[in-house]
Amino acid sequence: MICLRCGGCCQNLDIFVVNPDRIREDGSIDPFDSASMIFKPSGKKCPHLFFQASPDGPDAGTAVCSIHHLPCYQGSPCQQFEQMGPEDDVCMMSDYFRRLDAGKKVGKNYY
Ligand code: SF4
Ligand code: SF4
Repeated sequence: MICLRCGGCCQNLDIFVVNPDRIREDGSIDPFDSASMIFKPSGKKCPHLFFQASPDGPDAGTAVCSIHHLPCYQGSPCQQFEQMGPEDDVCMMSDYFRRLDAGKKVGKNYY
């Protein structure tokens, strides 16, 4: 699966993520501390997600996970997340999330 770096899954999925407040200096977390992970509900932006500025405008930023390179990310639900679709094809969820987001924006305009 080719990730388009849209950040859709990091905003729209229910998932447990590393608690930003529990990352130790060496980038790891205590696996025996129940507060090392927090629940990130669907629709809420993950605290580790940010968008890198793009010359194409504010809506075209590249999604970046700030803990991707850290030891605490290894073995996390995100790292183990299995993507749908063929390995050499673009992510199937990206377009779905984009349309979902567009729908929400339309909804906001009407209410
Ligand atoms: S929804 Fe797909 S393309 Fe977008 S960030 Fe997640 S894995 Fe990558
Ligand atoms: S931890 Fe990283 S990969 Fe997981 S949801 Fe947050 S930003 Fe996305």
